[in-house]
Amino acid sequence: MLNVPSQAFPAPGSQQRAASGGRNKVPLKQGRSLMDWIRLTKSGKDLTGLKGRLIEVTEEELKKHNKKDDCWVCIRGLVYNVSPYMEYHPGGEDELMRAAGSDGTDLFDQVHRWVNYESMLKECLVGRMAVKPVVVAKENHEKKLLNGILFKSQVPDLPAKEISPSYDWFQTESLVTIVIYTKQKDMDSESVIVDYQDGCFRAEIVIKDYSYLLHTELSHEIQEDITVRVAEKTGKVEIVLKKKDNVSWKYLGHPLENHNSFTTQRETGLYYRKCQLISKVDVTHDTKLYCLMLPPGTHLQVPIGQHVYLKQTITGTEIVKPYTPILETLHSNLKESHHPNNKYIYVMIKTYHTGLFTPHFDCLQIGDCVFLSNPEGTFKKSQLQELEELFLLAAGTGFTPMIKILNYALTNITNLRKVKLMFFNKTERDILWRNQLEQLADKERRFEVEFVLSEPTCEWTGKQGRISLPLLSEFVKRSLEDSRVLICICGPASFTEQGIRLLKDLNFSQEEVHSFTAE
Ligand code: FAD
Ligand code: NAP
Repeated sequence: MLNVPSQAFPAPGSQQRAASGGRNKVPLKQGRSLMDWIRLTKSGKDLTGLKGRLIEVTEEELKKHNKKDDCWVCIRGLVYNVSPYMEYHPGGEDELMRAAGSDGTDLFDQVHRWVNYESMLKECLVGRMAVKPVVVAKENHEKKLLNGILFKSQVPDLPAKEISPSYDWFQTESLVTIVIYTKQKDMDSESVIVDYQDGCFRAEIVIKDYSYLLHTELSHEIQEDITVRVAEKTGKVEIVLKKKDNVSWKYLGHPLENHNSFTTQRETGLYYRKCQLISKVDVTHDTKLYCLMLPPGTHLQVPIGQHVYLKQTITGTEIVKPYTPILETLHSNLKESHHPNNKYIYVMIKTYHTGLFTPHFDCLQIGDCVFLSNPEGTFKKSQLQELEELFLLAAGTGFTPMIKILNYALTNITNLRKVKLMFFNKTERDILWRNQLEQLADKERRFEVEFVLSEPTCEWTGKQGRISLPLLSEFVKRSLEDSRVLICICGPASFTEQGIRLLKDLNFSQEEVHSFTAE
């Protein structure tokens, strides 16, 4: 519910009309786009019916507002009157009504926990849920100071199969080292996301579907270059902070929200940091490669096959869309990068002139800022281990997740005999990184690329059309009967769905096919 998906209000029949994750988008009436909704929220109209008053809502009261023209929904303790939004909801009115008069937090999280409903629905805010009084034990002030001791009371119910990590810290004259014992094997530095800004330190350790969070206001200032070390075998994570002044710290800091908690990633919520646009370079007539610089106190690496969310404020409303970070070039392991280390994130983005997010994003000037979230996604590097043949099916910007996968597979997977990319585009001028792909195919005997055009000119001698059984049955063939294969597919949602159906018809198992979507 309340999903404002990446393909917000696609035209009927447009490839942008997505049904990702099996959810259907309904046709919206004329004048009911996301931009129209933003305009309505700015019009000064009373959207709650309460003339700007905020009230405390009891459960009994919430239950009464369960009709389309009087529909209240609670998300994370805040109650919204969503009736005015009904016709603008890309998932349709019925989907929204599933939460009518009740707490819709779980439903919302299941669909799009990344959607910034607070901003989208701020004019619909009715108030807070009335809190039942609870007896709060008197807290000892000492206990609010963090000395590396894990207070049992701060750890919520542990996930059944996971053991909660714990932390400790120690110091030298110039350094403070925070040690996190994750008790997990195969941890790597991609699982550790650290942010330090304005005295606040936040470290999130991603363990499967869970997050362990350290969140404190440090007792003293530190320098912004933070080092992260991970002992893969023992799962010990060390975060080394450089003191600004060489004084002895008596305690690490004051706990902030959700400090020392271990919860599912869904519950943790997306964290954003402000990044600066460093460069933008044309890739094709409508697509550019953008380089974003992470803040100096951030340690973040986007794992292969995962995406991030970018957030901008457009006419006063925060708009969020997913994008898949890529490498600076396809040959980046061979070539000295212009920007060494992990401070830079590259995204390749197509501008839709009638879209909401991308025209604004494309107008950013070098030095301007955009917010970037923690990474998300279901792809795991381990899917590539032991692989013998890798098939990549991409349409348009659906090529973006393939870039890191291709590079990683060719450089790290020793058993790999073949990587084949079939790349679907409208015209020749739409093909992203065509030269780089052709050069790679010339140089790397295991790699083959095939371009397929849906709107070719008469000079085009290559393959034509859309994704189809004849095209796939010829392209996605095992070279040996028992070859270990993986097929990755990404593009417009309907392209991906059709591809999955066709691959099933060709007898590939679910484990052999990975599709990319927002959830
Ligand atoms: P939207 O506003 O969503 O519009 C998209 C299209 O729909 C436009 O053609 C627009 O004209 C049309 N449209 C909008 N409103 C209406 C209306 N009312 N009536 C008719 N037509 C309408 N994209 C990339 O370029 N690079 C990436 O790396 C990338 N990674 C992604 C990763 C994931 C996991 C997902 C799900 C998507 C990814 N995308 C990527 C797509 C991206 O998230 C956006 O969907 C895309 O940039 C379009 O956003 P927009 O707001 O500019 O366009
Ligand atoms: P596009 O240029 O409109 O289309 C690329 C090619 O795909 C064209 O040949 C087009 O054929 C074909 N195609 C479109 N819809 C099809 C369908 N239903 N069945 C078969 N072929 C179809 O693509 P784009 O504008 O770059 O859009 C890329 C899409 O990829 C976006 O929807 C974006 O959200 C998605 N994406 C997803 C992820 C992810 O989930 N991780 C990452 C990046 C991008 P026609 O000319 O016949 O339409």
